[in-house]
Amino acid sequence: MPFRTGGAEISTPTKTNREVVMRLEGGCYCGEVRYVAEGDPMMQAQCHCRECQYISGGAPNTFIAMPAAGFSYTRGQPKQFHAQGSRTRVAREFCANVARIW
Ligand SMILES: [Zn+2]
Ligand SMILES: [Zn+2]
Repeated sequence: MPFRTGGAEISTPTKTNREVVMRLEGGCYCGEVRYVAEGDPMMQAQCHCRECQYISGGAPNTFIAMPAAGFSYTRGQPKQFHAQGSRTRVAREFCANVARIW
């Protein structure tokens, strides 16, 4: 049964071998960019690094890491930003219309 949290729809489809995988669907506020992330979550955590502080406004960034192979944009293309002089080489993707990262 799908449910919503933080703008993302989460469901747990069952594979034929009875393993449960996670499926996240979400997107930006205006709806131009949509994504799906499927697979077994690799970790969930809070990050307190400087890059995440910039994005969150100071609070820890809470996230789930999903396999890259199961991630794709299903609508639109995000704009990408690389912080100048960043030692961590963090790239952020967001909707250019609403300037929102999700
Ligand atoms: Zn948007
Ligand atoms: Zn971080």
